[in-house]
Amino acid sequence: MVCFGIDLGGTTVKIGLFSEEGKLLDSTEIPTRKEDEGSHILADICDTINLKITDKKIAREDILGVGIGIPGPITKDGTVLNCVNLGWGIFNVEEKLSAMLGGIKVKAGNDANVAALGEIWQGGGRGFEDLVLVTLGTGVGGGVIIGGKIIPGSNGAAGEIGHIPSVFGDDAEVCGCGKKGCLETVGSATGIVRETKKLLDRSVKESVLRDNPGFSCKDIFDAAKEGDELANEAVNNLAKSLGVAIAGIAAVTNPQVVVIGGGVSKAGKFLLDKIEESFNEHAFHATKNVKFALATLGNDAGMYGAADLILD
Ligand SMILES: [Zn+2]
Repeated sequence: MVCFGIDLGGTTVKIGLFSEEGKLLDSTEIPTRKEDEGSHILADICDTINLKITDKKIAREDILGVGIGIPGPITKDGTVLNCVNLGWGIFNVEEKLSAMLGGIKVKAGNDANVAALGEIWQGGGRGFEDLVLVTLGTGVGGGVIIGGKIIPGSNGAAGEIGHIPSVFGDDAEVCGCGKKGCLETVGSATGIVRETKKLLDRSVKESVLRDNPGFSCKDIFDAAKEGDELANEAVNNLAKSLGVAIAGIAAVTNPQVVVIGGGVSKAGKFLLDKIEESFNEHAFHATKNVKFALATLGNDAGMYGAADLILD
């Protein structure tokens, strides 16, 4: 028996074929065709799956189902609620894709929540039941898993960690969501660089970053690891914002493990330890016994989690 795990992104669709035991047997990547209100996307996915079925000589009755992560809010019954970056309106994606695939079972979830499921199943949160995933990349995202299950919320918008109010007052920047001072404004890769530039402007401290005006997020971490005082201040500010936000999440969800993923998490244990330190400073005492870990599945987390929607 096999199943498919699909990570539907704004640029590419990753389609994984998994064994019943959860082993990734094969994966294919196709572009996400967003033209014509995204009306080709599901058909392209069906074509790829059908091709795979023929190619691998898979009997239809051996397919347990198709799991899919969607980059937008989705309700528990599989209804997509205006997935703007795909051009999609409101419809039941589980029913539609299942009908297109001749009745194969389809389960859908929000992509970030599905990635969290992937990390608890086969990644950095393996062996735990209660997890919070925080992804730090071009944006800040995440997901909450309690008792091994995604917490989707009433509109499928739970786990939107990036939009936790984090910065107040005049210093708050406008977030991509239109709100001011979201965690994403200081925790995304671009946010980290912007905040570090602000810090450089305010300070007279020497820093290697002053000789490199086009510095990247990685340059900041590299400088901090080398002992650059100002870069360390920037990383400490970041870790503080993250630790405070995670302490807030922990006060509500009491997780066993917090997994940090996304491109920024390549900074590794150096960043992880600082976030953990800030968390322990701000968390309610009874929620403190939390393991901090790095995500291990990278860009495959979404495919794994989508497969787990079916295999679970
Ligand atoms: Zn926001």
